[in-house]
Amino acid sequence: MRQNIIRNDNFWEMACKNDDSWTWKSIMHVRDEVMSTTYNAIGPGIAHDITPYLAANGKIASSLIYEVLRRRSLPVAWGKFLWSGLQCKRWSFIVWLALRERLYTRHRLYLRGVCDTSLCALCGLEEETEAHLWMRCTYVADVAQHLMVWMHISHWDVSLQGWMDWFDSDPRQTSCIFQTKLLMLCSLVYNTWKAQNRVVFGEAFAPPLDCARSIISLCKDRMRVKCRPLSHKDNRWLVKLGV
Ligand SMILES: [Zn+2]
Repeated sequence: MRQNIIRNDNFWEMACKNDDSWTWKSIMHVRDEVMSTTYNAIGPGIAHDITPYLAANGKIASSLIYEVLRRRSLPVAWGKFLWSGLQCKRWSFIVWLALRERLYTRHRLYLRGVCDTSLCALCGLEEETEAHLWMRCTYVADVAQHLMVWMHISHWDVSLQGWMDWFDSDPRQTSCIFQTKLLMLCSLVYNTWKAQNRVVFGEAFAPPLDCARSIISLCKDRMRVKCRPLSHKDNRWLVKLGV
């Protein structure tokens, strides 16, 4: 960005051009908001002096401004187990975005004018919001159903947040059973979101059964490498899953 757009200009002073991209215009819009608010106050009733946000060369330090502007959410219960365990970090990251409602769903992109439809890319039945994807989407539900059968879980009737609450209430968070169920859920969210991305970017649609088989295969591979059974019950559980 610095090489291609900013070049020798001063980011804090350069003007926005008509043919600039939507992304760049958004960045410039945020910059203008920062410039207009930082000097006096950032956020209602919170006074800030700009001096702490100046780098040694006297210019505004973007990283310090970011620290002031970014919203710090309250700690959540699932934070303690989402980032550890058998799952890949990128799977956890997508789950985190989904729980925080930060995924670029079609509904969100449509509202920003960068997508011509807000319908779900996977089922086409409702607006593609996080609430739809992880509670009502027939595609995700279909994939989840296959995973439930594999995991010997009787039914899927809670939201993603509900699953996190359920995990949080489980006292056996070091057990294989807990870890493998969390792995399955993270893989479900990551891989169905990946299937959505494939459709959005014009790649082949993966039928739910194919997606489920791929998830089961991925999970088994990780279980074989990562699982540390602590008891006979854990061992029996892994055999039951075909690991
Ligand atoms: Zn859907």
